[in-house]
Amino acid sequence: TLQGKTAVITGSNSGIGLGIAIEMAKAGADVVINSFTDREDDHALAAQIAADHGVNARYIQADMSKGDQCRALIEQAGACDILINNAGIQHVAAIDEFPQDKWDAIIAINMSSAYHTTAAALPMMRAAGWGRVINIASAHGLTASPYKSAYVAAKHGVVGMTKVVALETAREPITANAICPGYVLTPLVEAQIPDTMKEYNMSREEVVENVLLTRQPSKEFATVEQMGGTAVFLCSDAAAQITGTTISVDGGWTAL
Ligand code: NAD
Repeated sequence: TLQGKTAVITGSNSGIGLGIAIEMAKAGADVVINSFTDREDDHALAAQIAADHGVNARYIQADMSKGDQCRALIEQAGACDILINNAGIQHVAAIDEFPQDKWDAIIAINMSSAYHTTAAALPMMRAAGWGRVINIASAHGLTASPYKSAYVAAKHGVVGMTKVVALETAREPITANAICPGYVLTPLVEAQIPDTMKEYNMSREEVVENVLLTRQPSKEFATVEQMGGTAVFLCSDAAAQITGTTISVDGGWTAL
């Protein structure tokens, strides 16, 4: 059980981050959920998790594209035994047409945010004598697809940084790992279907079958619950010597 531990999950008012927050709460951890918005719905999500699972749950607004706000999220959380860097965005375009502002935003949110939160959280983990850094990378942290230059660069970067954090904490009761999901049907994936239809001149059904799941031999989307379960496993005693590596949850994608 993760009772008495606090998990901070970036970008967690939707999709995989929310799924991980719920699995962490089920395992007994207090949770801090986050996004850049500050809506009633965001705070209601935290209240719902607290009510459903009998843990403390809070929503803290912070924009993961801004380094100082990444650090402020960890400071406001007050405790951070489990750090889950999950916030991420996607943009699909050929590299010579890739908008510069999208490139910068993807590198900031998908990669640099994890540097800032990790830098802020490690001293807390050291003081607590235990810690887990879990970076939500992607199959695109290990392999590439066309039209996703910024995303693939950022996710490979996250996998590299994960290894460095593991080495810097190797003699301490702290581990750092990356989970590499294949396709999970979340709002992020939903949103890239129209652009992919345009790039490949395909229907929605053709994109799902021939572009998205063509790389996923299981021919099934992975689920947010499976991502949460993998994160909870990485917090277990069985995983105490797992550090500096990646766990693919991708239906066989990276075996191809
Ligand atoms: P999603 O769009 O449902 O969730 C993204 C989350 O990040 C949302 O909660 C959003 O509010 C938050 N976010 C976006 N910009 C932010 C910012 N500036 N500051 C703070 N929060 C911000 O997408 P998802 O599919 O759940 O993606 C979550 C993570 O999983 C991402 O890092 C993504 O790259 C990764 N991933 C997803 C898939 C997939 O198939 N869905 C596959 C591999 C990796």
